Formats: sequence, C-alpha cells, structure tokens
Amino acid sequence: KFNFCAGPAALPEAVLLQAQQELLDWGGRGCSVMEVSHRSPEFVEVAERAEQDLRDLLSIPHSYRVLFLQGGATGQFSAVPWNLFGAGDGREKRVADYIHTGQWADKAIREARRYGQVNVVASSEDRNFTYAPAADSWQQSKDAAYFHYTPNETIGGVEFDYVPEVSCPLVADMSSNILSQPIPVEKFGMIYAGAQKNIGPSGIAVAIVRDDLLDRAMDGIPRSLSWKVAADAGSMDNTPPTFAWYLSGLVFQWLKEQGGVEAMAKLAGRKSALLYDFIDRSGFYSSPVEKGSRSRMNVPFVLADERLDKEFLQQAEEMGLLNLKGHRSVGGMRASLYNAVPLQAVEALVAFMADFEQRHG
Ligand code: PLP
Repeated sequence: KFNFCAGPAALPEAVLLQAQQELLDWGGRGCSVMEVSHRSPEFVEVAERAEQDLRDLLSIPHSYRVLFLQGGATGQFSAVPWNLFGAGDGREKRVADYIHTGQWADKAIREARRYGQVNVVASSEDRNFTYAPAADSWQQSKDAAYFHYTPNETIGGVEFDYVPEVSCPLVADMSSNILSQPIPVEKFGMIYAGAQKNIGPSGIAVAIVRDDLLDRAMDGIPRSLSWKVAADAGSMDNTPPTFAWYLSGLVFQWLKEQGGVEAMAKLAGRKSALLYDFIDRSGFYSSPVEKGSRSRMNVPFVLADERLDKEFLQQAEEMGLLNLKGHRSVGGMRASLYNAVPLQAVEALVAFMADFEQRHG
C-alpha cells in the first residue's frame, strides 16, 4: 500500500522497522528510548547526532543554531514575532513583511498581527492562491523586523522556485518542503518546520536560527517560545519529545544513506513530473496550480466531474492508494509526494488514474 497523506505523512519503512526492533530493547538497555531520561548520556548522544546529521544534510553554517521544539509549526507562527519584534536594546520594532500565498501564510499573518503591524507585500489571493507571486512588484517596508514567507503551501500545492532577496532577516515556514532539496541556509535569518512531513512524526518542530537573531525578543516573551532559552539549554529547557526526536534522527540517517537532499531533489523532480505530465496530457484530470508554481511535494488535482470523486477515492483505496482526498477546504484530490513516498507509488497512482479515466472519461 502507498500512503499519500499530507501529514502526518508516510515515514521510510526502514526507519519504522528499526524503531520497531528497538522498541522494547533499545541497544541492549532492556527498555525503550521513550523510557530514559532526556539528560542521560545515551539520549544526549541521540539528540546530538540528530542535530549533526541535520546540519550535514542542509549544510547549516556554524553561525546558526538548530533547535528541536514543541508546539509545531503553529507554535512558530507566534514564536517568530515574539522573538524578532524586540530590537534587543529595548526599542521594539513591531513591523514585519509577509507574503500571502494561502492558508498557512494566512495563519502566520493572523498570528503576527496580534503583536505588531503586518505589511502584506504580495498576495496570490486574486487568483485563488494558485501561484507564487513574482518578486518584481513588492513594496518592502523600510524598517521591517523580518520578512516571512511560506516556500510550500501544503493545501494549495504552490511552491516557490526561488528564494526572495530581501533587506531584513528572511524567515521561512518550510514545514512541507524542508529536506526535499538543497537550500542556501545563509540567505535565511530563520527557518522552521513541523516534523510530520519530511522530518519525522508529529510532536516536534525544527528551527534553524541565525545567532544574531537570538537577542531580539520582545520583553515578556513566554519562556517556552524563546529561541534563546531553547538555544542556551540545547533544546532541553524542559522535557523534549524524546521519541519524536529519536525517530527524526533515524530519518536523517536514512536520508544520508539515500544520498542526501541532492538525491531527494532528483527523486522529487521525477515523481512530481510523472504525475503533472500525466494530468496535463489527460482531458479528464486537471491541476488548478499555474505551471512554474506547482509543488513537488503536494499535488492537488480535480476530476472533470466531481460526482465521481467518491468512487475515485474508494477504488483508489481498494488498490492500496491511500489518503488521496483533498483538504476539506478545497475539495478534489491531493497526492503528497514527500521523501518517504517511493517512485513506485506515483507509478501505481498514474496507472490507476489512467485506468479510471478509461472507464469513466
Ligand atoms: N505550515 C505548513 C506549511 C503546514 O503544512 C502545516 C501543517 O501541518 C503547518 C504550518 C502547521 O503545522 P503544525 O500542525 O505542526 O502546527
């Protein structure tokens, strides 16, 4: 069976098998990784190795801190303004630029508005969030504390194929496309991602923060949202989600064995091209997203007659093609093609779609 869920999403089978093997007797200790102190040398080793592997995978420079946090990506929607709206010297700078590309950007914007002024520099709302706005028409604020965007909108299936050039710290919600390609980390001030797509299970989020941004928090920042507190404590100011951290570490090791993010980029290109090419050739299926902005991770598509949706989903399930239903807010279908989804899954999906079209088209 193949799992196309948008998140929590498929994890590499080899990782799940290893976790299963180690569940009751982790490395001969007679207990599971969930049952030891986060401060024990054996867990600290797991935590440090995970961080180092992530650093290696994304070539993260030494001037950046890697944090493993709770509260998901949604927690970071609040943490970003809390940590960056203070100037560090008592003078707050509560203005930020945001790009509005769909539901996740929207949530980030709404949260930031609770703490300061948000300048929406570009929006794709005019065409129902079906494209990534080009950089030429932006009016950046002169004094923004940071610039936020969502490189991949998981629900709309829209992905930026470029990194914005901005004059203040660039902040990115990479929840649904992190580790799917090399990224120039040094162009970013801060990157965050909920784990439950390309990193590991839900319950943990990764933040990559440039050192000099650790001192810009607003007065009164809740302790649990402070990047500085987390950085100073090695992400262990309080008990971290140890199992999620351990499993994420296994995923990082698996990614290295697969050839790293370069190999993932190639694979993502092949998988998504196979599906988009098929959709574009067909008169029965269509993609609502403009070419050039189509996500390599989340592929929404619609059938010519939506009355067939239910039958399509039912037969797909029977064929072992799971979780293809589109997000409740947009309908239609969505195939999520994260790193752990093999090429064979997309081949099987395309074969099924062709057969369904032949019977109903
Ligand atoms: N940002 C993006 C792009 C997402 O796809 C999601 C969905 O999981 C979130 C944020 C929210 O993440 P979380 O559920 O970890 O708060």
